Amino acid sequence: MLLPTNTLLMTDPLRLVRPNILALEPYATARDEFDGGDISVWLDANESPYTNGVNRYPDPHQKELKKAIARLKGVDEACIFVGGAGSDEAIDLTYRIFCRPGIDNAVAISPSYGVYRVAAAINDVKYREVMLADDFTLDTDSLLAATDANTRLIWICSPNNPTGNAFDTDDLEALADRFDGILVVDEAYVDFSTRGTMLSALARHRNLIVLQTFSKAWGMAGLRTGMAFACPEIAALYGRVKYPYNLNGPTQREVMSRIADGLQGHVEEIRREAVRLSRSLSESGCVEKVYPTDANFLLVKVSDADAVYHRLIESGILVRNRSSMAGCEGCLRVTVGTPAENDLTIEAFARIGRGDAPLAKRPERKGSTDRTTSETSIEAAVNLDRSTESAIDTGLKFLDHMLWQIPHHAGIGVRLTCKGDLYVDEHHTMEDVAIALGDAMREALGDKRGIERYGFVLPMDESRAMVLIDLGGRIDLEWDVEFTREYVGDTPTEMFGHFFKSLATAMRCNLHISARGENNHHLAEAIFKAFARALKAAVRRDPFNDTIASSKGVI
Ligand code: PMP
Repeated sequence: MLLPTNTLLMTDPLRLVRPNILALEPYATARDEFDGGDISVWLDANESPYTNGVNRYPDPHQKELKKAIARLKGVDEACIFVGGAGSDEAIDLTYRIFCRPGIDNAVAISPSYGVYRVAAAINDVKYREVMLADDFTLDTDSLLAATDANTRLIWICSPNNPTGNAFDTDDLEALADRFDGILVVDEAYVDFSTRGTMLSALARHRNLIVLQTFSKAWGMAGLRTGMAFACPEIAALYGRVKYPYNLNGPTQREVMSRIADGLQGHVEEIRREAVRLSRSLSESGCVEKVYPTDANFLLVKVSDADAVYHRLIESGILVRNRSSMAGCEGCLRVTVGTPAENDLTIEAFARIGRGDAPLAKRPERKGSTDRTTSETSIEAAVNLDRSTESAIDTGLKFLDHMLWQIPHHAGIGVRLTCKGDLYVDEHHTMEDVAIALGDAMREALGDKRGIERYGFVLPMDESRAMVLIDLGGRIDLEWDVEFTREYVGDTPTEMFGHFFKSLATAMRCNLHISARGENNHHLAEAIFKAFARALKAAVRRDPFNDTIASSKGVI
């Protein structure tokens, strides 16, 4: 319903709530029924009594987390709802609180975030879209003109997804004044914007709800934590209709600890990168326009959206094709990545614009060997570009423990099984495992194009292991390590030098290993970890350099 302009509405927002929700007797959890006292035996909630970190239900009201959010945002705790399925949860609950299924309707800007429409359909609420202008600006009069007596909600996303622009907060306040319903402003991307938040307007508008999330600037999309801010009466309604324990305990703790860590400069970097990406993409021959952004993504109008989208996929880059959305014809939505990812994206767009071949997706570097002698039978495989699916079983448990350091710390995949003559001793197993692993590594390295070639690490932890590696091709092992025990577990320590000699020979690399330490287990582990770190640095490929890392032109 439309109110006369300039009418300041301070009417009771509870008037707009569905009668069944107002009358609702919410579920009381076991802990809600207890009002404090010195309890040491908790037998009220049918939980497991065995402590394991998650055996107790979490705080259903998230009091500590709300305190932290209240400090962070400068709002009262009573004005906060926290959702455990992100701010998407708040979107759904907003319909459930205010809209009578089959009767009420919601009005929203278009193009905008798709969940408002889906949640309306789930709740059997009519959804009316009002198109933004060609430059994505907002005409509040036409929004209000689309409302009627049954319009309970207006949805505004600011900065708007997928257009990227934020709306003027004064205009939004004026809209809240003139609308006799609930104005929901979704500020999922507000941390990237310099145009301000509506949080401070909450005190002036009891019909305003502001949504925010930890999924974007705060980097916690995996934790699914979003917020609704509103006057205490509306915030309390969310608390009544939500599921009793809607935010799990580990998430509550994790979000609090990450709030304490702060934003760590990522927002500034994303903002700088958004400007750089926008300038560079505008120069590509396939880009017609990059729209201004107040968010961490760019809406990019291209010559042929489907074609550019697929060409980017050929370059290993996935963006969102928004060209089928009304108002976004011909547009791709490109999230701002790390500086290195943005470099690749800029290069890929430039190539598409010039009609050049796409950025080559380099094949993964894999090597494998099956090696059987009268002493051992070994299958070894490595993947220098993928860390998943490692498996190691040499028959020597301590050696396995050491070898696992390689996939873990080098970020590569290693599959290695050995059936060796351990009834003789450990020698053949250790020597042949090193040779097979080295052979597989050498094959995976191939012609070594684009690799960094050298790796090193500084001394690490109390065992001071240092491993220097050169993958140039000349073979050497400088070994300066003294073990004081003959064995660690089932593995003879004198064999480690021999292991690395065999590995260096098979891999064709130069290794300098020196280590000191009191504890022989730590000493060996530090050597393998340092080896893995050195290897990780040396096999890393520069995305733009496909040359041989040698002044001789061959390695
Ligand atoms: N609002 C907007 C505008 C969004 O773009 C998104 C996520 N893409 C959300 C809300 C939902 O965020 P959350 O991860 O908190 O559910």
